[in-house]
Amino acid sequence: MAEFALIERYFSNLSRPGQDVLLGVGDDCALLQPPTGHQLAMTMDTLIAGRHFFPDVDPVALGHKSLAVNLSDLAAMGAKPAWALLSLSMPEIDDDWLQGFVQGFQDLAGRFGVKLVGGDTCQGDLSITLQLSGFVDAQRAMLRSNAKPGDQIFVTGALGDAALALQLLQEGKDPGELRADLEKPWPRVDEGRALAELGVRSCIDLSDGLVADLGHICKQSRCGARVEVERLPLSAGVSDYLRESGDLTPAIAGGDDYELCFTLPPLLREGLDELPFTCTCIGEMVAGEGVELLKADGSRLPPPKAWEHFAS
Ligand code: ADP
Ligand code: MG
Repeated sequence: MAEFALIERYFSNLSRPGQDVLLGVGDDCALLQPPTGHQLAMTMDTLIAGRHFFPDVDPVALGHKSLAVNLSDLAAMGAKPAWALLSLSMPEIDDDWLQGFVQGFQDLAGRFGVKLVGGDTCQGDLSITLQLSGFVDAQRAMLRSNAKPGDQIFVTGALGDAALALQLLQEGKDPGELRADLEKPWPRVDEGRALAELGVRSCIDLSDGLVADLGHICKQSRCGARVEVERLPLSAGVSDYLRESGDLTPAIAGGDDYELCFTLPPLLREGLDELPFTCTCIGEMVAGEGVELLKADGSRLPPPKAWEHFAS
């Protein structure tokens, strides 16, 4: 099967023309119409075999995750997902793999109204780049730079499950129920939109670990964060691991959580209680700089070493 047949078979039917998609897959460009009064939020992420995922990972999970990591970026801005461009590089045409990948992608795309409107396909090492656009109310985007001293810091969900799953896999162990947290993270799109609607102005998604990502909010908002580690929301699996090992690394420095971390001005506190999902307060923004990790007795934990590409 040649490139064009492949595109025709797998990628040409994932969006129907509608109000915002005037022309999807099949021409030199897609033609798109954003709704009036909204800004476009755009993001892109690349997943490379052997670096971001195990090459033999379930393709359904990979299709899901390729979209999920991008949806998570839109969630952190409070944007409504809209259009995707998919650049796929693969060593050969493997129909079973492609079918699985498209299924995983499309199941999640359908849930959040994402339309695949174009992309690129080439032969090479397995790698997936997805570009995603969404709509955001011009006044309501949640920025890393909007946190203020006195804001409380919250996170959605639980922290460290994906990192612990990865650690177990790397040790040759079965991560059990934690596998899904690593391979099929659920992007907090509905939560992000509800938070933006509530009036939350500062948010980030946790892809590189709490300390690193909250550190971005600190830096760009020119303030500090004080986190009480005993308040971190942990699953049973991560709690057990912590009890046995004393190691907080998965929860404070593990990547791939895709939970939201946001800062809440005191005035919005009551509104938060009415939202249909739970968030956990883990500390507060303060004057100063950087993320400080405190134990219940007030003593400080040393900062974890964060993962960074190109770090020497
Ligand atoms: P061109 O050579 O003009 O860039 P292509 O032959 O690469 O066009 O692509 C033909 C059409 O198929 C375009 O509309 C493009 O956006 C779409 N397309 C190619 N690869 C993909 C893909 N992996 N996913 C979705 N659409 C794709
Ligand atoms: Mg091309």
